Amino acid sequence: MGRNLQNKVVLHIGIDDIDSPLGGCTTHLASILVESLDGRFSFKDYPNLIRLNPNIPWKTRGNGAVALRVLVEEDSVSQVVERVLDTVGGYVEEFMHPKRNPCVAFYTSNNVSRSLRWFGVKAIRDVITLDLVKKVVGRNGVKFECYEPGLRGLVGAVAAIGVPLDDCDYTYELLAYRCRENWGKTRLVEDESVFKMDEETRPHTFLNVDWEEKRVLITPRGVDPVLYGIRGEDPGILIKAMKMVKIGEPIERWTIFRSNQGTDMHLQRVPAISSIRVYQSVIVRGKVVSKPMWIKGGHVVFRIGDETGTIDVAAYEPTGLQHIASKLIPGDVIEASGGVRPASSKHDMTINLERLHIIKLAELVEKRNPKCPKCGKTMKSMGRNKGYRCPKCGFRTCKASKIIIVKKRDLETGTYYPRLRAYRHLMKPPTRIGREKRKPPTRIYTPFHGT
Ligand SMILES: [Zn+2]
Repeated sequence: MGRNLQNKVVLHIGIDDIDSPLGGCTTHLASILVESLDGRFSFKDYPNLIRLNPNIPWKTRGNGAVALRVLVEEDSVSQVVERVLDTVGGYVEEFMHPKRNPCVAFYTSNNVSRSLRWFGVKAIRDVITLDLVKKVVGRNGVKFECYEPGLRGLVGAVAAIGVPLDDCDYTYELLAYRCRENWGKTRLVEDESVFKMDEETRPHTFLNVDWEEKRVLITPRGVDPVLYGIRGEDPGILIKAMKMVKIGEPIERWTIFRSNQGTDMHLQRVPAISSIRVYQSVIVRGKVVSKPMWIKGGHVVFRIGDETGTIDVAAYEPTGLQHIASKLIPGDVIEASGGVRPASSKHDMTINLERLHIIKLAELVEKRNPKCPKCGKTMKSMGRNKGYRCPKCGFRTCKASKIIIVKKRDLETGTYYPRLRAYRHLMKPPTRIGREKRKPPTRIYTPFHGT
């Protein structure tokens, strides 16, 4: 048999922990790799930008890893691996930083194995030990190169390979990169053009602008090589949006990634409060058991409980959810969604609220002393079970009891979302509800990258 499609395999290339305070970035390196491989080889998919567990304290900025999936002939796999290692090695050397543990992983298979898929989802929802990643790598014949002692970057590189986004919801992001000489300088992106782009492309694009503050959300801060990132439902709308954004500096390159961003993939519904574990992101139902408390910084904390236990829930000021949370009262039934922070000397294990669903409101009652039947003045209690006395006419009685008044609640049932500027990568914005995808794309839009 000669060279034909039968001999082609998918080479999955996972990379992570490239982000550096010196300017490097995992997606930027991925974008360079895409350019160097395209034309010579064909891509099976857009590069996949996989956001991992946002609650891990030792995560990289944004905790995003990338997987490239390239169709190569079986006998040229090693040649592609060499080529990738050359590019990654050069990039890593340039932006080396002691706090980073850059890693690239390779896996050759037309289908991603079940154990890799399981590992990928676990890396989004839970904590991964290095023993576990070693086991998964061994079992699946994953080859890898880590550029610093340690294997932390390997977790993300392997996890990205394990999330091929073919059996779940997904979105796209077009990332545009700056020329080297502009890294660290103010980003020259015209706000007005972003407002206009948002008005004309949403809800097919999302998280472009926080209209409450008229703040542009597509530009990151700092030395990051990203000029802007536009998130949306399909590649065509992203290209249209890119053309609408006016900029005052050149774009070095741009690439469209397919991603689990904006899908809520990190959230898992737990059946009981006692089954919640730290660093997970959970959706849990419970009854409010303590009066919400305002704490320093403008945050609100309250406690919920079920038959199995209780847990604190914190609504942080940037989310804007604290005003709603402060109106809850004991007895209200809610569903809290958010990341679970471990206990510290200052607080118990806490859910950092990222969405609040109020299911049922308790009756808010106020008890008042009864009125004097003789003169109408409000009577005073003479002590527990000792009856009431009128301060005006002196009338005493043991038969009167407190008047119960049901007050109107200044709160409605329903789902409350954070302010757009408080959105983290994986959180699904409300405008995406009903737009969830169930099938992977059947073809790759051209062009999906450019310079
Ligand atoms: Zn009286």
